Amino acid sequence: MHELALAQEIVAMVARHILPAQASRVRAVHVRIGELAGVVPESLEFCFSAVVAGTAWESADLVMTRVPAEACCLDCAATFPTQAPGAGCPACGSSFVRMTHGQELQVDAVELADDDVAPSVRDTALEAVV
Ligand SMILES: [Zn+2]
Repeated sequence: MHELALAQEIVAMVARHILPAQASRVRAVHVRIGELAGVVPESLEFCFSAVVAGTAWESADLVMTRVPAEACCLDCAATFPTQAPGAGCPACGSSFVRMTHGQELQVDAVELADDDVAPSVRDTALEAVV
């Protein structure tokens, strides 16, 4: 259960990227969460609400996009959906596969009340908590 730490990291990270004057205008924070990232969306949403409660961001929504897990075979270059890191290649049976999607935790965009988007936060990985 690291959703609380993740929520705190999201808020801290966004706070570093927007101007203080923009804080009260944050309408939504968009994040991409891989299926295998070990994050429970409902739990993260709850923790995010708790973290922003009583702040200038109180009304901000956390918008989550789930990223399906996908792997790429290093032997035959096939890409395939997978549910577990370490699963073999369904095309050739090789075990040399690399996860390409599904483990990401990224802030996609911060939406401001006047339809601005803070561009500097796009695709910022939340590496501190992964
Ligand atoms: Zn293969």
